[in-house]
Parts: sequence; structure tokens; C-alpha cells
Amino acid sequence: MKYTIACVFAHPDDESFGPSGTLIKLAAKGNDVYVITATKGQAGQSSDKIIKGDLGAHRVKELEKACRIMGIKPPILLDFFDGTLNEHQMPLLKKSILRKLQRITPDIIIIYEKGGISYHLDHIAVTKAVLLLSEENKIKPKKIYYFGISKELSILLGRQNALDESKLAKIDVSDVYETKIAAMKAHGSQEKDYLRIIKRFEDMKEQAHGKHYEYFSLAKTTLLHLNYPEADLLEGL
Ligand SMILES: [Zn+2]
Repeated sequence: MKYTIACVFAHPDDESFGPSGTLIKLAAKGNDVYVITATKGQAGQSSDKIIKGDLGAHRVKELEKACRIMGIKPPILLDFFDGTLNEHQMPLLKKSILRKLQRITPDIIIIYEKGGISYHLDHIAVTKAVLLLSEENKIKPKKIYYFGISKELSILLGRQNALDESKLAKIDVSDVYETKIAAMKAHGSQEKDYLRIIKRFEDMKEQAHGKHYEYFSLAKTTLLHLNYPEADLLEGL
């Protein structure tokens, strides 16, 4: 059985720095995996490297490369400007996301948790737009997942743990860890960020006996009788 999975994120790199291991595994099993990215990341810093020309166009190329590495579909870009997503943009943001989701009709949608993981306002706005579309019954996927970080890591970072521990999906992505790192490194302009995150992954892996996990919690579902914690996002479908 082949399913369609769509992530809705704000910036190029959110997919790779986020749930890329899970996406790699889902795509490798023959599922259609899409990433909808609301902005081109124009406002992102380009580390210390000099990017010739338009940073947004450069970052879209990096995103395309990351998608190829992950084995997922080419990215779907919306045309919002990095750093501008907020309440004023909400009607337009919802409309743009809806148009893309209506075409893909995903079984599963993945969004950042309500705090946007890093409290970035663009992340929070994109998550809210998808939740509103669901509440208004404009989209009806079988499952909507929040992607987030583990309870242990949120304590370490001094952040509020936004994932619902009673509806957790903990995905072991150890077997595709190297591919995940390669997808992250496709975002060369964001080197500073990925080096910091990879360092953290390595520390966590050490504590987890060489294992690497990605954490989600179920935000909405049309399915009954799900057992938690899930070890695969396709459980119950
Ligand atoms: Zn982001």
C-alpha cells in the first residue's frame, strides 16, 4: 500500500534539520513524500560563505538537492517572504497551503509543533494555518503530526516540551542517519546551523547507545484504535 505524506514548513532546511530521517524511510518504502515550503529563506543568514546573487534562489537549489538526497518529490514552494509570516498573512497563507494540499491529498500531514520548535514566528504561523484548515474541515488527512524534540532535549535546551507524551510517535532513524546528515549538509548556506545541530545529534546518539530517533505527536486523526507510542507514522492506516 502506497501513501502520500506532506510536510508543511516555513523555510528551506526545516525539512532536513527536522524529520528528514522519517521522510527518507517513508520514501524508501515507495510512498509519495512532499515538502511544501512557504518561503525561500531569503532572510536567512548565509553563514560565512559568500552567496553570489539571490540568497532565496540559492536556498531553493539547496532544498532541491536535499529532496533528491532524501529520495522524496521535488519541493513545492509558496511565494512568501522569509520572516513575514504572521496573523496578517494568515488568510493568504491558508489559501496558498490549501491549494497545494488539495492537489496532493495527503494521507498524513507533518507540521512543526505549536511552538515552532525554536519559537520562530514563521514556523508558528505555518503550523497554525494547517491546524485552522483542518478545524474548518477544508483538509481531511487521516493523520496530522506535530514534529518536535524529545522531552529530554527540551529540558536540556530549557524549552517547553510541546509534544503530547500520551500520543507520541518515536521513530528510529538510525539506519538512515548518514543520509539525513547528507540532506542537512545540502543546505550549505546554513552551515553554522547544521554544524551546531549535528554536534547535538552526536551527543544524543552517544547517550542513546548509537541510536537516533525523531519525535512526533499526533495532533489530529480520523482513525480510531491507535496504540501509543507509535514506531511508524503509517500505523493504523
Ligand atoms: Zn525554519
